[in-house]
Amino acid sequence: MTEREDTLDLLVDAARRFAREVLVPAEGQVRAEGEIPPHVVQGLRDLGLFGMTIPDEYGGLGLSVYEEVRVVQEICYAQPAFRSYFGTTNGVGTLGIINFGTDAQKRKYLPKLASGEMLASFALTEPDSGSDAASLLTKATREGDHWVINGAKRFITNAVHAGVFTVFARTGTKDSGSNGISAFLVDRGTPGLTIAKPYEKMGFDGSHESDVTFDGVRLPASAMLGPEGTGFKNAMKSLDHARIHMAAVAVGVSRRLLDEGTKYAVERKQFGQPIGKFQMIQAMLAESQAEYLAAKALVEQSARDRDAGRKTTMEAACSKYFATEAAGRIADRMLQIHGGNGYIKEYPIERLYRDVRLLRIYEGTSQILQIITAREMLREAGL
Ligand SMILES: Cc1cc2nc3c(=O)[nH]c(=O)nc-3n(C[C@H](O)[C@H](O)[C@H](O)COP(=O)(O)OP(=O)(O)OC[C@H]3O[C@@H](n4cnc5c(N)ncnc54)[C@H](O)[C@@H]3O)c2cc1C
Repeated sequence: MTEREDTLDLLVDAARRFAREVLVPAEGQVRAEGEIPPHVVQGLRDLGLFGMTIPDEYGGLGLSVYEEVRVVQEICYAQPAFRSYFGTTNGVGTLGIINFGTDAQKRKYLPKLASGEMLASFALTEPDSGSDAASLLTKATREGDHWVINGAKRFITNAVHAGVFTVFARTGTKDSGSNGISAFLVDRGTPGLTIAKPYEKMGFDGSHESDVTFDGVRLPASAMLGPEGTGFKNAMKSLDHARIHMAAVAVGVSRRLLDEGTKYAVERKQFGQPIGKFQMIQAMLAESQAEYLAAKALVEQSARDRDAGRKTTMEAACSKYFATEAAGRIADRMLQIHGGNGYIKEYPIERLYRDVRLLRIYEGTSQILQIITAREMLREAGL
C-alpha cells in the first residue's frame, strides 16, 4: 500500500465516523431549525472537506476524483444536504476557478474556499433556461475596462452564504448560442447583486436555493473566468466532473437507505416472525443491494477513468443517471419495507425518500443525461 492510499483510508474512515457519529444525530436538529448547525460546519472544516478538490498549494486536500467519490459516499450516509454545504463549493462552484482561473483569481479565492471561510455558488440556470442552458439570457456588456451584467438566475444553491458566484452571461449576440457565453466571478456585496429569500422545498432541509438578480452589476475585466466565449464549454467540463461527484452522493444515500430497510426487516414482526423472513421482502432487499453495488462500481470506475485523463462525458452522464435512478428505486423499496412507519416523520426513511428525489433533477435531469449518453454513442458510431 502506498502512503497516499494509507492517507485515503484514514480520511475515508474519519468521514465514515463523522457521518455516523455527528451528522446522522444532527439530522433532527436540521429538520427543526432548517440550518446546518455550527458544530457540523466546524467538523466539516476540521476534516478539510471544504478544500477536498482544491490543490494543496492553495490549502486544499487536492484529492483525485476517485478519492473524492470515496469520501463523498461516506459523508452522504447522512442526509445529502450536509454535503451541499461544502460540496457545491468543491464542485461546480470552484472547479471553474481551479481549471480555468488566472493565478490572481486562484490566489484571491482558493485559500478562503479551501478553509471554508468562503463558500462558492454556480449560477447557470435561469427562469427560462434550465436543461437548455445555452439559451440563457443574462447579458454582459463591455463598457471600456468593465463588464456590466443584467439578468436573473434561478435556484442557486448556497447563494445566501456564498462569497463568490460563478455567473454565466451572454457576451455575444442574442443568437450566438453556446459560443457567445462567458463566465464571470462576482463577489458578494457587489452593487446591483440581489439574493432572494430561499425557496421552500420538498426536501434537502438545511440547503438553501435562491434566485439571484443582476441589475447593472459592474465588474472589472479581470473578473472574467477563462477566455471570452468559453463559459459554456467550461461549465460543461465542470459538470462532467460534478456529475461523478453527484453519483457518489446517490451511492452514499443508497447505503444508508439499505441499512435502514435491513434493520427494519429484522426488527419488525408480522405473522409471528421478522418480516425479513418473507421472500418478497428479501427480493426488495436483494434487488436494491445489487443496484447499489452496480452503482458504486460504475461511479468509482468513472472516477478512475477521469483521473487517468480520459474524456468521461458519457461515463459521468451514465454514472449520475444510473446511481440517482437506482437511489430513487431503493428509497421506494426501503420505504415500502417500513409499511405505515415509512410514511411518518418519526423514521428517517420518509426524509431520505424526499431528499433523493432531487438527485434526478439537478446537475442534469435523467432525460438530459440519457440524451448526452446516446449522443456520445452515436457520435462514436459516425452519426
Ligand atoms: C434544489 C435545486 C438546486 C439547484 N441548484 C442549482 C445551482 O446551484 N445552480 C444552477 O445553475 N442551477 C441549479 N438548479 C437548477 C437545476 O439544475 C435545473 O432545475 C435542472 O437543470 C432542470 O432545469 P429546469 O428545472 O428548468 O427543467 P426543464 O429544463 O424545464 O425540464 C423540465 C422537464 O423536461 C425535460 N426535458 C427538457 N429538455 C428535454 C429534452 N430535450 N428531451 C427530453 N426531455 C427534456 C426535463 O428532463 C424535465 O423532466 C437547482 C435546482 C434545484 C431544484
